[in-house]
Amino acid sequence: MDTKFKIRKDDTVQVIAGKDKGKRGTVVRVLTKKDAVIVSGVNIVKKTMKRRSQQEQGGIAEIEAPLHISNVAIVCKKCGPTRVGYKLDGDKKIRVCRKCGEAL
Ligand SMILES: [Zn+2]
Repeated sequence: MDTKFKIRKDDTVQVIAGKDKGKRGTVVRVLTKKDAVIVSGVNIVKKTMKRRSQQEQGGIAEIEAPLHISNVAIVCKKCGPTRVGYKLDGDKKIRVCRKCGEAL
């Protein structure tokens, strides 16, 4: 198991650094090669779209730019942003909140 990547798709995370600090969202994609995640509604950048056909409208699209994993923290339902710890549940390794020990 890759312990470097503590954050997974569908996790709720909070931004802890940068322009969107404090914002929360759900992880929609994990970019393992870039050590980055894409979080819904967070780190929105405007991108100019070219009109490719008569039907299609050109203009500006808003897309979510990747955030480096060091800039996000997983959110515990009890404590808020926290660090991830691991616990053995039988022979299964589970992710837990380092503060309260709750499974994440
Ligand atoms: Zn907790």
